[in-house]
Amino acid sequence: LNRRLAEFGTTIFAEMSALALRTGAINLGQGFPDTDGPEEVREAAVRALRDGRGNQYPPGPGVPELRTAISAHQERTYGLSYDPDTEVLVTAGATEAIAASLLGLVEPGDEVIALEPYYDSYAASIALAGGTRVPVTLRPGAEGSRSGFHLDLDELRRAVTDRTRLLLLNTPHNPTGTVLTREELAGIAELAVERDLLVVTDEVYEHLVFDGEHLPLASFPGMRERTVTISSAGKTFSFTGWKVGWVTGTPELVTAVRSAKQFLTYVSAGPFQYAVAEALALPGSYFTGLREDLRAKRDLLAKGLGEVGLTVHRPAGTYFITTDIRSIGESDGFAFCRALPERVGVVAIPNAVFYDHRDEGAPFVRFAFCKQKSVLEEAVTRLKRLA
Ligand code: PMP
Ligand code: GLN
Repeated sequence: LNRRLAEFGTTIFAEMSALALRTGAINLGQGFPDTDGPEEVREAAVRALRDGRGNQYPPGPGVPELRTAISAHQERTYGLSYDPDTEVLVTAGATEAIAASLLGLVEPGDEVIALEPYYDSYAASIALAGGTRVPVTLRPGAEGSRSGFHLDLDELRRAVTDRTRLLLLNTPHNPTGTVLTREELAGIAELAVERDLLVVTDEVYEHLVFDGEHLPLASFPGMRERTVTISSAGKTFSFTGWKVGWVTGTPELVTAVRSAKQFLTYVSAGPFQYAVAEALALPGSYFTGLREDLRAKRDLLAKGLGEVGLTVHRPAGTYFITTDIRSIGESDGFAFCRALPERVGVVAIPNAVFYDHRDEGAPFVRFAFCKQKSVLEEAVTRLKRLA
């Protein structure tokens, strides 16, 4: 293993899902729904397969039907207009979109600022691109406060140097569930314009917002021309195994991302692209239904984890709840998560893996709530045995 990757080892999600399988524990670790997405979307994939659409290499930028549907979604949802031919790129999930964006836009030695805790592929992708990551830490507010963790804009401002090339943002934010507010995004936008930074913004949880609203950074003044926006069908349609993601941005930015993408995967699976094109055209009630279903699950799990004695940082978005285990007399999230399956039969994720400042992340543990109600109830029952 080369020096760029040596520090990363095996991703925590693989480790924890393997632990869940081995112990038969309830898996609230890796974020994937235990119920598949809409039947009609699955049917659309089957139809595409049968009709021979996408069974051979689809076009490099993605099938035109999907690029048009992505463009229409951005217009309809946010009033953002992107040319499907030059400003939209289909990727193999958001994961590839993140990697290709960094590989296509970062020069070796450039500094990339990421909000800490950060989704684990960010650090590895920055390293692959030869960049230097500069974490800016989100810190928890009072228990039960607006959205748990907060960005200190002054700290972000101080993190920018002459070598900073790019801000890598994520809202709604995994693992904290923070949804950046209009004021925070406006502050970020102002800073990006002032310091002439590019922004790659990972908005895969755009439709999973329970309090407040998701505002795409690209909609702020001066941002459209410097922002690469990333999303994915995995979260919005509950098909994490399909690996269909996308990027929107100016022709220049999208070309840079595509230049890297073409040598990573060239394309992603054809039939699924046609199905996701249909999914994006689902009526508004689908998106509302998804959100309301998850809101109820968030409330159920938040209440249960509170009863367990954990400090709950109530998420405004995503399908994760970050808890603080110090309230039950624990302090090391790693040790806690490694022992939890044996102790009570539940798997969770230690947030410390998402931190450079491991000490900051040590007491935080993430639970996923994209699971059936009965599964969440059983997990809470088991966790109560911790006492
Ligand atoms: N970004 C974030 C913040 C995520 O949580 C995830 C999935 N867990 C991804 C990107 C990856 O998305 P995909 O599965 O589409 O590659
Ligand atoms: N994004 C999911 C999570 O945060 C997992 C994705 C993965 O396994 N790479 O849990």
